[in-house]
Amino acid sequence: MNELLRDLRAIVEHERALHGDLLPLPATKEDPSSSSADPSPADTGTPSHTAPDDAASDPDMPNYDLFGNQVDPAEDPSLPPSERIEALIPDDAPYKDADTLDEVEQYLADTVLVPIDEDRENPVFGVGDPAADLVIIGEAPGRNEDEEGEPFVGRAGQLLDKILDAINFKREDVYITNILKSRPPRNRDPKSEEVDAHLPVLYKQIALIRPKIILTVGKVAGNTLLDRSSSLSNLRDQEHDFYGIPLMATYHPAALLRNSQWKRPTWEDMKLLRTRYDQLTDET
Ligand code: URA
Repeated sequence: MNELLRDLRAIVEHERALHGDLLPLPATKEDPSSSSADPSPADTGTPSHTAPDDAASDPDMPNYDLFGNQVDPAEDPSLPPSERIEALIPDDAPYKDADTLDEVEQYLADTVLVPIDEDRENPVFGVGDPAADLVIIGEAPGRNEDEEGEPFVGRAGQLLDKILDAINFKREDVYITNILKSRPPRNRDPKSEEVDAHLPVLYKQIALIRPKIILTVGKVAGNTLLDRSSSLSNLRDQEHDFYGIPLMATYHPAALLRNSQWKRPTWEDMKLLRTRYDQLTDET
């Protein structure tokens, strides 16, 4: 154990020599600056894993691991979810520092990121409460949504409204959006370059809304946000963690219109969602 600690100290000292004083080292017995009245972790045999005081108190100061490497803010559970999610947005995205959803919506309306943005009737940004505790995310707008510029307004959307109503939510209580903000031609699956272009916009929406829980509907939305390629039954199997926000997955309402046998499991998911929502919103 002592040997291990010695090795760790040597690595940290090396890092400190290279990058400066990023990490506090526990005082050693030989260190003349150590106070005998205040036994250090080294004295007790317990390695110190605490961050420097200034790092702990300064929210702009990045976190470092034991070896002085900066922790990826998106993967840093000590940061609030909104900061972790914002860290996923490329630094050169013009909306990265936007303060409101309206600013991001305006940027989206004015910009062609991928060819489907040129062919759309309307961008479909999102609808609902900009401070909603629940965000619902689908795949991409269809024909009705493209015409109206609003997500989930066709038959699938009407079913989504009924499902929400069954667990005592109105459409305006939640925020509804999609992975893609433009309709793919003939409702084909999203292409990876389309997802890459539009997903950071969704990240920004989530970071600004700061929901307590996210519901994805359909396989594409769940897998895209969780960066997986799982079946829907695997996605439904458990609650997920989206950079600190609980995420649940269920069937897409359009799939329920085609396969009524999935209505029962969807109802089970919705009851669970309502229970989790109530727990999470009661905490504050
Ligand atoms: N399907 C989706 O995934 N989103 C919509 O907005 C409409 C249909």
